[in-house]
Amino acid sequence: MNTRMLINGELVEGAATLDVVNPANGKVFATIARADEGQLEEAVAAARAAFPAWSKLTYEERGAMVGKLADALEARKEELAQLLTREQGKPAAQAMGEVIGGIYQLRFYASQRHEPQIIKEDAKSRILEHRTPLGVVAAVTPWNFPFMMVTQKIGPALVTGNTVVAKPAPTTPMCALFIAEEAAKIFPAGVLNVIVDENELGGPLTAHPDIAKVSFTGSTGTGRKVYASGADALKRITLELGGNDAAIVLDDVSPKEIAPKLFNGAMINAGQVCLAIKRVYAPASIYDELCDELAQLAKDAVVDDGANQGAQIGPVQNRMQYEKVLGFLEDARENGTVLAGGDRLDRDGYFIAPTVVKDIPDSARLVREEQFGPVIPVLKYDDIDEVIARANDSEYGLGGTVWSADLDRGVEVAMKIDSGTVWVNKHLDLPFDVPFGGAKQSGIGREGGDEGVSAYTQKHVINVALN
Ligand code: NAD
Repeated sequence: MNTRMLINGELVEGAATLDVVNPANGKVFATIARADEGQLEEAVAAARAAFPAWSKLTYEERGAMVGKLADALEARKEELAQLLTREQGKPAAQAMGEVIGGIYQLRFYASQRHEPQIIKEDAKSRILEHRTPLGVVAAVTPWNFPFMMVTQKIGPALVTGNTVVAKPAPTTPMCALFIAEEAAKIFPAGVLNVIVDENELGGPLTAHPDIAKVSFTGSTGTGRKVYASGADALKRITLELGGNDAAIVLDDVSPKEIAPKLFNGAMINAGQVCLAIKRVYAPASIYDELCDELAQLAKDAVVDDGANQGAQIGPVQNRMQYEKVLGFLEDARENGTVLAGGDRLDRDGYFIAPTVVKDIPDSARLVREEQFGPVIPVLKYDDIDEVIARANDSEYGLGGTVWSADLDRGVEVAMKIDSGTVWVNKHLDLPFDVPFGGAKQSGIGREGGDEGVSAYTQKHVINVALN
């Protein structure tokens, strides 16, 4: 288990230390290196110094090294998945899914190319468009997917010729340090740096004058600060932020068939997914039946330490979020009818019983805000236009789902949801070559697909007179 940061090609101790807690028991399981502002400066300076040589390499050369990192991580995937469960809490199968996903993601980015293109040519001129890297990228990530959020950023940043300073969330730094350990053997010094903080270095890092681009995933509140911090230097900024995704169930589905899909979409990773289903809207004709089906699934779900076989829902990742979710439960008890769960589990760690709430008003906190925990409100509707308006009445617009036996009807409703991605009769299908991101205050820019790769470059046009 690597406990050191990666700065200028070396695995280094920190100016300070950080305790990392296993959310399944609330106990410290690692004490690791933590940076101060001096080490942040060293990391940015190393990335800056590495940029000229790294950016001159070809896509093939850089892609080969990113691919090598994927191979090295794959060779240790069991160890990595166990570490991921230990620091984040998710069940083992979900942790392995994240690890494999992150490795494939690196391979996808390793294969991407941005060759110069002739965009116009006639007798008088030839106009070539190159895509050049930006410089040093700050990659700042949250605690819900501590491996895949990092690979999602370093993959496209590195392959396009940028150098990187990555900073994971303070409660889940271990996967990033695992990547750092393997990266130290592969990349030239300074190309990838990984530093750890206690939530105080994100600001100085994103505001640093030598950072050319910030790729940030986290809450909308922090995203606003990151956006503001880039104003002076007019930094390129990608923001992947919070969501409050609605699932709209149409009246032609079978509640029994649809309930497990909705339940999984809401409870995966204990509800700590930006694109998790965070509000379910069901028509009056099937409302009670659907609520009962969801409640039964909540009562039957196995909530346990993700490392234990059979665990379906793990703990909430950290104490702060746990207390936040307990606040949402209080709101649910006061304003709605709790059909299942409704409280913490009486055991060590940050466990919350999967909770289903009905008859709660749209104005309740649990409906308006992002709960980011295993708690789902189910709301009744009478009219499809009315429910579309209610679903769109949010500052967020990240994802959403529509469930119907009639695909045309499903797509018609999906077209009216003001979100970056809307799925019809499925959920969380995120191919690497398809861009995703938020509408409204769920973000700016896209990750994934060609757009996600281009976001780490700028156009450089060479316009040549031919006579
Ligand atoms: P957060 O905003 O608290 O923290 C995210 C990261 O920002 C952490 O690394 C943190 O240390 C750092 N940070 C803190 N203050 C900063 C500052 N002033 N400047 C720069 N960085 C700073 O988010 P979180 O609680 O770790 O993550 C949960 C949130 O992330 C949820 O809202 C979730 O929806 C969102 N999220 C979004 C996506 C997406 O793709 N849209 C994906 C995953 C999570």
